[in-house]
Amino acid sequence: MLKWHNLTLLIFFLTLISFAQDSEKRFCFQCENEIKQGKPYLISGDKNFCDQECYEKSLPKCSVCGRPVKNGYSQGSKNYCSDECLRSTWDICSVCGKRVNSGVHFGSKNGDFYCMECSEKPVCFACNLPNDCRVLKDGRNICPDCSKTAITSYKQAMDIIRDVRKIMKDKLGIYTENDIKFELVDKNYLNSKSQSQEMELGLFYHEQRVKTETSTKSIYGYEFGKKVNTTQTDSFYIYLLTDLPKEKFIEVTAHELAHDWMEMKYPGITDPKITEGWAEYTASRINSLYGNEYLNKRMKENTNPVYGDGYRYISQYVEKNKIQGLYKYFGSLNKNKK
Ligand SMILES: [Zn+2]
Ligand SMILES: [Zn+2]
Ligand SMILES: [Zn+2]
Ligand SMILES: [Zn+2]
Ligand SMILES: [Zn+2]
Repeated sequence: MLKWHNLTLLIFFLTLISFAQDSEKRFCFQCENEIKQGKPYLISGDKNFCDQECYEKSLPKCSVCGRPVKNGYSQGSKNYCSDECLRSTWDICSVCGKRVNSGVHFGSKNGDFYCMECSEKPVCFACNLPNDCRVLKDGRNICPDCSKTAITSYKQAMDIIRDVRKIMKDKLGIYTENDIKFELVDKNYLNSKSQSQEMELGLFYHEQRVKTETSTKSIYGYEFGKKVNTTQTDSFYIYLLTDLPKEKFIEVTAHELAHDWMEMKYPGITDPKITEGWAEYTASRINSLYGNEYLNKRMKENTNPVYGDGYRYISQYVEKNKIQGLYKYFGSLNKNKK
């Protein structure tokens, strides 16, 4: 969203002071009184004024301070008496803090405003906004704001994960008893595990191993009692990207835990619009429970046909049919796929 104002320089031409000495009748442009013979009066362009006061009254007023604009600017339908008054109407760049006449609103018309220079800075991987970023080891850029609460240690991560799991269980009734292994990983590792082309912030991974053992007893070369034993082992992993800001980390954790729940309850559902929509919808509820409602804006406005459309599909379904209706729907999808 580019913003650019057209600026015009306003100059009201030289004012002359004269004495009315001829016999011609003159009238003040402003108060319309006759200018008396022999009395000094003012001329501006082709207009006469009886005094300074009338002259100033005739000038356009500054939109900021209300003073008459003698030499100033006009922008759109508004006039400004000075540089100072004009600048006070410009937007403040959210990175460098300068007031500028042209710049970019990010995301939407009411999104954060950036001067042209700052809008070209590297984009932070976590908040998706340009800023004075530093570069992480795996090449991601992170802004100073997101850095402040970035989760970098396993202990920090586990404390948050336990808390999110408990809240999901207590407040939303969404939980499994799965022994999930959580790992904090960098971008390269996460990409190697994921099939997605997009940059992921986390990943849920369910590994199923089926082991078949055949045992027989043999006595004197005769085989009998052939037994086939199948054992299935399930391993669950959630990979989370390092250096996510805390509030985002909470959201991503909830998203991945929602995948874990769905995989247990409705393993037959494989449509990514449903699984990702559910994960996003659940994460949005957790955001709200943590008081981080602002993070849900991204989901609501996400144009991605899987994540964005999926989120809107699930949340609208719940609006109409309540959460119990959604679970019923999941049940029917699950059966059809089996
Ligand atoms: Zn007058
Ligand atoms: Zn002014
Ligand atoms: Zn700036
Ligand atoms: Zn950021
Ligand atoms: Zn997902």
